[in-house]
Amino acid sequence: MALISCPECQTEISDKASSCPKCGHPALYVVDNKKWYKHLFYSAWMYLMSMIIMFFIHTKEGMTAPQFIVSLVGFVGIIWFLYALGMLLTSRIRKN
Ligand SMILES: [Zn+2]
Repeated sequence: MALISCPECQTEISDKASSCPKCGHPALYVVDNKKWYKHLFYSAWMYLMSMIIMFFIHTKEGMTAPQFIVSLVGFVGIIWFLYALGMLLTSRIRKN
C-alpha cells in the first residue's frame, strides 16, 4: 500500500482511499489509474486475439477482406494500448 499526497490539502492518504479523510477531496488519480489498467488489459487482449486470428487465416497471396479487418482491429488495439499506457504513466507523474 502506497501513500499519495492529497492534491487539495497535501495530506498523505492511502492510494486505496476513495477520498481524502481530511478535506474530502476525491482521490481522482487513483480512480484514473484503475480505469486505465482496465483499458490496458482489454486493448492487450484485442491485439492478442487479432494476432491469433491472423495466424489462422494467414495466406501467402495478397490480403483478403477478413485479413484486412482483423489487422485493422489489431492496429486499433495497439494504438489503444499505447494510449492507455501513456495515460497511466502521466497519471502516475501527476500523483507524485
Ligand atoms: Zn485533502
